[in-house]
Amino acid sequence: MRRKFHPGDLLIVAVVLLPLLWAAPGLIAALDSSWAAISSVLVRVSGILALSTFAAAALLSARVPRTDRWFGGQVRLWEIHKLLGFSAFLLVMAHVVLLALMTLPVSVERSVTTLFPAIVQWDVWLGWFAFVLMVVFIAPTFGFFGHPHYQRWKSLHRLSGPAFLLALVHGTVLAPATAIWWLLGILALAAVAWRLFFSRLLGRHRYTVDSVTPLARDVVEINLKAQGQGMAWQPGQFVYLSPLDPQLEAGINEEHPYTVASDDSDTHMRIGVKAIGDATAALQHVRPGTEAEVEGPYGTFLEAQQPGRGRLWLGGGIGITPFVAGARAMRAGSSEAVDTVLLYLADRPERAYYLDELKTIAEATPAFTAHVHYFNEHGVLTADYLRAHCPDFAEREVFICGPPGMISYVDRLLRDEGVPPERLHTEAFDFL
Ligand SMILES: Cc1cc2nc3c(=O)[nH]c(=O)nc-3n(C[C@H](O)[C@H](O)[C@H](O)COP(=O)(O)OP(=O)(O)OC[C@H]3O[C@@H](n4cnc5c(N)ncnc54)[C@H](O)[C@@H]3O)c2cc1C
Repeated sequence: MRRKFHPGDLLIVAVVLLPLLWAAPGLIAALDSSWAAISSVLVRVSGILALSTFAAAALLSARVPRTDRWFGGQVRLWEIHKLLGFSAFLLVMAHVVLLALMTLPVSVERSVTTLFPAIVQWDVWLGWFAFVLMVVFIAPTFGFFGHPHYQRWKSLHRLSGPAFLLALVHGTVLAPATAIWWLLGILALAAVAWRLFFSRLLGRHRYTVDSVTPLARDVVEINLKAQGQGMAWQPGQFVYLSPLDPQLEAGINEEHPYTVASDDSDTHMRIGVKAIGDATAALQHVRPGTEAEVEGPYGTFLEAQQPGRGRLWLGGGIGITPFVAGARAMRAGSSEAVDTVLLYLADRPERAYYLDELKTIAEATPAFTAHVHYFNEHGVLTADYLRAHCPDFAEREVFICGPPGMISYVDRLLRDEGVPPERLHTEAFDFL
């Protein structure tokens, strides 16, 4: 995860800690040196933190366009969401273990009945149901059963709504800080309602597929024209595209994230799509004239943190798209002409599908240089290769985009060559 602090982080910390701070006086008053008192306070602390962390994770699932920049971009926001979800899960487990330990010194039987009381104690059982739902929807995220199928994972993740509701009722009945719980509960449910229902009605823009340009085998560029005003975006940002072509083989009305490969002074929103699964394979055959819904923009990927400093862009495979947008913006004069070197990482010449256009832009744009590195010809990228094509690479602000394996390799290479982490920015085309 990108560690730099962002203002939105304060909000997350506040949501996680506020209920505990609210409950603190009562917890402190209940504390004495006996095991019963200590364990009972620990049970409540773990329960309160589990619920507030769960609420914070739910809040972050709203995905409201442009608000993600308060947190360092949507990709970082997903990383935080995942971390919070996992922390909530661990805290729930700690809560259960502490509950069992609380009455264990009395007897094993007492411990078991504390955990599994008579059915009339429905408030405790709500906690158990929430826990079971949580295991079901959270386990696939962490690859406990291998890499999950995205759409199945997404359907399972919808169980997080009922799980949160059950946990909320469990918490409000059993823990103090009731007013805070209701406030957090309403905000978290509003976030989920926005994501699942209202964003579809209020947050989407209608576009028409104007043309589809084949770029290479299994790669096309889809050119979309806005119906009405359309949206504004910055190079490096991405959108969620939901194609509505009824003849598509897969992915109809299914939202998938794609980086916009054009700059927004263009009359079209252009999206380069590589077939890697059902939805992206079907999109290779989307028909001109059909409609699509677009939500966004998201992300802050190409935003320089150190304006004026030279840049190095490293794009692998379809991860070249943010840099295509950046280069097109330089050609159009709509972005600052900062000294920029692009290194396009492709397997072989047929897979460097944007190279001709990038070279043409480089010829016409003094601040922009484009090089290509073919894996089949040059092997893995090395520091020597980098030095030969961009001698001052260690002085530049570096942006890396592509498949996760390529990103971690290049990121490590650059760190080993002395590029400080705060000058390295990455965007992986993979959420899970
Ligand atoms: C920030 C970002 C920008 C991207 N930009 C581009 C781009 O410009 N061009 C391009 O071709 N691809 C891009 N991708 C990747 C693209 O979103 C996936 O290739 C596509 O969603 C795969 O869907 P599928 O059904 O074809 O494949 P599947 O086999 O269903 O999915 C393959 C993998 O893609 C990811 N994925 C699938 N669906 C989604 C989804 N709805 N939301 C998030 N991740 C998903 C999952 O990690 C999954 O394991 C981008 C991804 C991200 C996260």
